[in-house]
Amino acid sequence: MSRAFEDRHGRRPRKLRVSLTDRCNFRCGYCMPEQPQWAPKDQLLTADERLRLIRLFVERAGVRSIRLTGGEPLLAPELDGLIARLRGDPLTAKLRLSITTNAQLLHRRLPGLVAAGLDDINVSLDALEPARFDAMTRTRHRLPAVLRGVEAACEAGIPVKINAVIVRGQNEDQILPMLRWAMDRDLVLRFIEFMPLEGGALWRRERVFSEAELIDHVTGEFGAPVSLGADGPASYYALPDGGRFGVIPTVTRPFCGDCDRMRLTATGALYTCLFASRGTELRELLRGGVDDEALVAHLAAASRAKPDGYAQTGAVERPITMHGLGG
Ligand code: SAM
Ligand code: SF4
Repeated sequence: MSRAFEDRHGRRPRKLRVSLTDRCNFRCGYCMPEQPQWAPKDQLLTADERLRLIRLFVERAGVRSIRLTGGEPLLAPELDGLIARLRGDPLTAKLRLSITTNAQLLHRRLPGLVAAGLDDINVSLDALEPARFDAMTRTRHRLPAVLRGVEAACEAGIPVKINAVIVRGQNEDQILPMLRWAMDRDLVLRFIEFMPLEGGALWRRERVFSEAELIDHVTGEFGAPVSLGADGPASYYALPDGGRFGVIPTVTRPFCGDCDRMRLTATGALYTCLFASRGTELRELLRGGVDDEALVAHLAAASRAKPDGYAQTGAVERPITMHGLGG
């Protein structure tokens, strides 16, 4: 594989997150404003434009896995079709294909996703207590549908991971109930440190419930966990009674040195880092008739210029928040 995509730290893209829409049926406070401005429909990439970019990333950069995200990817009608097309194309047939979802529509969409060839699902769930859930997502009465979706995915034999963002003062009381719930169901649960990516409305350093605090909190109830090491961005821990959990400590222990991800927004901007202040705009190039070689040159240049990451740059201010970026 060409080294054209390698940055000065030797990092190359292996994982691509593709946002299918900036729209969402939830309004999580750590992710978006309560009244977001959605991108106009004609600014969203088409399925063909996304496929073209994915194929080039696979063929030229060596990307091996694709995570379809949003906004809420289950709101995107093209989701099943995109997965099926990736599975049906010899170049992309063997990719690991995943989604990250809030799972409200999962129960309904699951059969189509399984038939299309989805490999696994990350479900974002920050609370099990209904009032807490409603407050975190700024919705009402949606928790039962989310839990039904998780159950359906488990019954269908699709690997499910649960991701919970912990915001001090909002849902740290959910840590232990969620851990018990996940262990009872043999689900992988990862706690995510609250990152400064929501436009500055909510994030404060003191609202980050750190990895160290999480470990302390869990130790008080279950005994001291043993470190199992890292897998991607998550560090995993084993509890004395055999249960496990993970932590994604982006803020207190950034893993930028090993980052092999990039993100394509729903409107066609390529972000090589969550903490970059701007992305490389690809939509107008695509619509202007750019040929593959010129397009690859843009992708490779962006990849080589990958920023050092949160460890160096810290919080970022930019017009786009997590729902637009494709978290
Ligand atoms: N709507 C889908 C979902 O919630 O899973 C996919 C998009 S969402 C932007 C992807 C992930 O980003 C979710 O797991 C969410 O919890 C996480 N996320 C959003 N804002 C965050 C923040 N400020 N800090 C940490 N994680 C965040
Ligand atoms: Fe929507 Fe996901 Fe953001 Fe929540 S985290 S508002 S579900 S995009």
